[in-house]
Amino acid sequence: MRVIPAVKEMQAEVLNQKAQGKSIGFVPTMGFLHEGHLSLIKKAREENDLVVLSIFVNPLQFGPNEDFATYPRDFERDRALAESEGVDFLFYPSVEEMYPNPSSVTLVVQKRTDVLCGKSRPGHFDGVATVLAKLFQIVQPTRAYFGKKDAQQVAVVEGLITDLNFPVELVPVDIVREADGLAKSSRNVNLLPEDRKQAVVLHKSLQQAKKVMDEGERNPSTLISLIKEMITSESSGRIDYIELLSYPQLLPIERLEGKFIIALAVHFTNVRLIDNFILEIN
Ligand code: AMP
Repeated sequence: MRVIPAVKEMQAEVLNQKAQGKSIGFVPTMGFLHEGHLSLIKKAREENDLVVLSIFVNPLQFGPNEDFATYPRDFERDRALAESEGVDFLFYPSVEEMYPNPSSVTLVVQKRTDVLCGKSRPGHFDGVATVLAKLFQIVQPTRAYFGKKDAQQVAVVEGLITDLNFPVELVPVDIVREADGLAKSSRNVNLLPEDRKQAVVLHKSLQQAKKVMDEGERNPSTLISLIKEMITSESSGRIDYIELLSYPQLLPIERLEGKFIIALAVHFTNVRLIDNFILEIN
């Protein structure tokens, strides 16, 4: 595995590889790797000749009061994990390398951002889209792998790839969870022990909502109320949102049918956690 900190070097390497007819699977991350990231890498490994992993904590997608400074980082551990998963190139640029000058062009995402995390994190998806547009130009992947844990991100990336005609195939990958159901996240290490215990209610409430739906409930408000009730009674977390929307359009629905997402975000003492189920009724 080669660690590449420079944009030009990364670009030259992929151009060279693509000239030899190699397919490139790309896994963009912010590092502090866990099983969720590794499942994306494994899938990329299966489906491509070469795997490029990027680790870059992108300041553009953090709001002024968010956790950019305290976002967990451990490059040496990440490097060892990437190597053992068979990553070929680890792209690891500095902030100065990615943004050497104040940007004269950035992207603004027009749709799918006025709901869920977009509502409480203004500008977040503009930052995500801008860094991904740059990374797609730098890595020029055949396929790019994204976790459904960040389901709104998958919806936004689908729009980015379609609208700007990036010649990249988007591959969404299922959520990887801890044994008790908590979705794996780099931020979980910042949970206080009591919050960590209570955080299982996120997944548990989604499961309960699915159960009620499987038994025939078709009213979105009923499921939202049920989830809210469970989270408030079983944790001291502060609910940011619980929403049920069509997927991937992310529009309100009045009755459960077709493909939709139930998604939630809850603030604990130091960490804001998200989770979701994407479901389908035909
Ligand atoms: P991050 O480093 O948090 O930006 O995540 C990098 C990629 O890993 C994103 O596509 C995430 O959706 C994905 N990811 C993070 N956590 C999980 C998880 N628990 N299961 C599956 N994918 C995940």
